[in-house]
Amino acid sequence: MFVKGLRCRECGRAYPKEPIFVCEWCFGPLEVDYDYEAIKRNFNRNELEKRPPTLWRYRELLPIDGEPSFGLTSGYTPFIEAKNLAEALGIKRCYIKDDSVNHPTLSFKDRVVAVALTKAKEFGFKTVACASTGNLANAVASHSRKGFDCYVFIPADLEPSKIISSSIYGVNVVAVEGNYDEVNRLCAEIAMRYRWAFVNVNLRPYYAEGSKTYGFEIAEQLGFRLPKHIVIPAASGSLVTKIYKGFKEFYELGLVKEFNTRFHIAQAEGCAPIVHAFREGSNIIKPVKPKTIAKSIAIGNPADGVYALEVVRKTGGVAEAVTDEEIIEGIKLLAETEGIFTETAGGVTVSVTKKLIQRGIIPKDEEVVVCITGNGLKTQEVVANSLRNLIKVKPTLEDFKKKIKAGGE
Ligand SMILES: *Cc1c(COP(=O)(O)O)cnc(C)c1O
Ligand SMILES: [Zn+2]
Repeated sequence: MFVKGLRCRECGRAYPKEPIFVCEWCFGPLEVDYDYEAIKRNFNRNELEKRPPTLWRYRELLPIDGEPSFGLTSGYTPFIEAKNLAEALGIKRCYIKDDSVNHPTLSFKDRVVAVALTKAKEFGFKTVACASTGNLANAVASHSRKGFDCYVFIPADLEPSKIISSSIYGVNVVAVEGNYDEVNRLCAEIAMRYRWAFVNVNLRPYYAEGSKTYGFEIAEQLGFRLPKHIVIPAASGSLVTKIYKGFKEFYELGLVKEFNTRFHIAQAEGCAPIVHAFREGSNIIKPVKPKTIAKSIAIGNPADGVYALEVVRKTGGVAEAVTDEEIIEGIKLLAETEGIFTETAGGVTVSVTKKLIQRGIIPKDEEVVVCITGNGLKTQEVVANSLRNLIKVKPTLEDFKKKIKAGGE
């Protein structure tokens, strides 16, 4: 509706609205360019407050031309003031943006897929596909089951629940013997030969815009203001850059008055290429070979890593990593304090937040938004061995009394 076209992030060259993603001149990534003056005339707080609670309430700021056709129930997930977690972390205020219950596939990937598939339909594609660390495959499989032929590509060693949560929709699940970066390279080659819509390859400029809605919702649910700190898990780094873009758009449209949020990036120590570059004060992201339980964010060669790093540096944030043990502790801490069961990526975010508060980078009298992006039911095996043992009893009162010494009788 309000899309002017695509534009190269590096050299600024303009391109038409087509399923393309790299600049022919400098190989920079292409980004969607909007007519903000026209948006300003059509989109405001009063109008917004009348709309249904889905991510399509921000449609003027999304790159579609017609009506939305996918993800009609996605987005507008809970935003919670996490008082118990704040107390445990020793901070004044802590909020959770909870995409572990996004509809229908329990991760923030329902957002990007809603936009990408609507766009794939507008472009007239018959087949959709993706290169995924798990959650994206689940979302593409679910949303596309009617309307497209579908192929999702995943590393063969993913968690069983993530594989089943794609296969259940009856689509083609291709398990590649390699890590995500190898899956991605294969998909880039296929995308050059086949006229398929790879949501995160040739449709990437459109797909990535869907992540902005996670940021828009935070701003809206905070009462049309932006937080002081935000901690975001990074795989390719796209979500980080798009929450930033979303906040900036709300600021420039006058929907929020101030924008001085500090952006912090969370990664797993076993796959932390962005954190390494941050620690070294370098602008070059050196690819790594992932080795972590946080498979959903295990991207060794992050496509948007440099841009995510730029967001961190210019907002006065930091990039930090935690070990696999700390990830498990983070998952358990969130469950025990707030009753939310998140996956490994959420464990990374919680534990990095804890570290940043302990180190005084997030001062105790400030507020932080913790981004919970996926659901713990998909990565149960990582915590299975660190839980309290079951109390087994025979179905008799006598045995119950013997095994359980509790007050109340
Ligand atoms: C994909 C994913 C991310 C990060 O995605 P990027 O935009 O590639 O950085 C974070 N959390 C979960 C649970 C994901 O599935
Ligand atoms: Zn360019």
